[in-house]
Amino acid sequence: MSRRLHFLLIDNDREHAIRIEKMIQAAHESLQLEFVTSLNLGIERLAKGDLDGVILKPSDNSSHNTVLELRAVNREIPIIVLVTQGQMDVVADSMQQGAQEFLIEEQVTCELLLQIAKHAIGKMESLKTLEATKEQFRESDTRMRAVLNASLDCIITLDTEGDILEFNPAAEETFGYPSKDLVGRSVCQLFLPGENSNFPIGGLKEYQQYGRSPTIGKRIEVKAVCKDNSVFIAEMAIHPVPLEAAPIFTIFLRNITARRRAEERQKQYAAELERSNRDLEQYVSIVSHDLTAPLRAITGFCQLLQIDYYTRFDEKAQECVTFIVEGARRMRTLIDDLRTYSRVTTKKKPIEHVGCQAIVDAAVKNLEIEITESRAEIAVEDMPEVIADKTQLIQLFQNLIGNAIKYRDQREPRICVVAERGECEWIVSICDNGIGFDPANADRIFEIFQRLHADETQYTGTGIGLAVCKRIVERHQGRIWAKSIPGEGSSFIFTLPFDPGE
Ligand code: ADP
Repeated sequence: MSRRLHFLLIDNDREHAIRIEKMIQAAHESLQLEFVTSLNLGIERLAKGDLDGVILKPSDNSSHNTVLELRAVNREIPIIVLVTQGQMDVVADSMQQGAQEFLIEEQVTCELLLQIAKHAIGKMESLKTLEATKEQFRESDTRMRAVLNASLDCIITLDTEGDILEFNPAAEETFGYPSKDLVGRSVCQLFLPGENSNFPIGGLKEYQQYGRSPTIGKRIEVKAVCKDNSVFIAEMAIHPVPLEAAPIFTIFLRNITARRRAEERQKQYAAELERSNRDLEQYVSIVSHDLTAPLRAITGFCQLLQIDYYTRFDEKAQECVTFIVEGARRMRTLIDDLRTYSRVTTKKKPIEHVGCQAIVDAAVKNLEIEITESRAEIAVEDMPEVIADKTQLIQLFQNLIGNAIKYRDQREPRICVVAERGECEWIVSICDNGIGFDPANADRIFEIFQRLHADETQYTGTGIGLAVCKRIVERHQGRIWAKSIPGEGSSFIFTLPFDPGE
């Protein structure tokens, strides 16, 4: 059963009000009527709430601002005006002020009153929904406008003909036009004439005819023209907005000239760097090759001096010859190391499937003398299969294990070679219990000729070994780094990509 409606009758004529109240009470259960005899009392009662509507009988031939006064107290209450047959102007006036319905006194019946009360309530509900929708629309419009205004990209809205409807602040700044100068004008004037500047219109027409177009909904690169006729490279996309009446189109556009220039510059730098690296490698390779022959002659003749003339030399001369031989030996090592360094890229071999266990075995075999002399113990665990240049990988392990043996203290070297499966690559570590180094130098030691322990009598070397390791690892798309606690040991860690076939 529906709820009993509670209405307030505002009627200056007490007798009249009582008559209507009685008529309602006698005949109808669904409507409860309460009356007051002045507008002020009505406003007071309305302020207390708990009413479903008001029936207002204007006191004279005009409603003055009575409905407005009631509305000021309650914006949502349905209001019905009760008039006599000749008061249609009062009805019009009241409706304008916000009344929902009217009743003609001479025709009032209980049934009619109830019906009109329900209509008034229904109308008020629709009005509320409409207001709420309008409010939502206003909010979403405000939000959209805020996005348009704050956007760093140019946002340009077009109608179906390609005429500009909206031009946001970013577009104003980029193109140098105030929005009012462009609204209503064709978008084509924003693109370089001659370079198919008509393409947006063509795209819009094609889209409307066939529902698609190669220029709609895709990222394209164009040349755009500013008000001062300067041209810039723009990346843009035109998106259709399907509205009920006719679609509109939104252009999102960004000036990418600076990005393009930076990319061009980067490409140039990369090419220059590659060229200069190639030149340098070639230079190193030629120089080391050309130095080998005279050096071999020096070593050979010195050895001859040592064998054939040694006994004829006094002590000072013998010492000098020994220095020359030793110097020549060191120079030979340096040339060999430099050549190895340059060969990482010049003499690279094709990448193939290799098992790291076999690689480590080969490296250990090459270090047999050092291992025996130092009584080093090397534990190797979980070596993976990888895709690599076998010779270079042997070199990599040999350099790192060789260093782990070389940079030892009085303890016998304990070296551990382990591989772990990372998220997207193998992580290989070579850990030792040697002298270690200051971790502040962890990056520097991978640079060519950088040596931390330069005491030649104790630790011979050229400072090229780790630079070679870095080149090899990077050629295999990996990274290499080191950790250490001085006096406790070091760990050299590098990554290798997974075998793609795995
Ligand atoms: P080299 O051994 O010929 O000096 P490297 O490039 O192989 O050249 O190494 C550079 C420097 O890094 C070494 O001089 C040494 O100071 C330090 N280093 C390398 N490996 C180790 C290690 N396992 N323990 C301590 N220091 C090391």
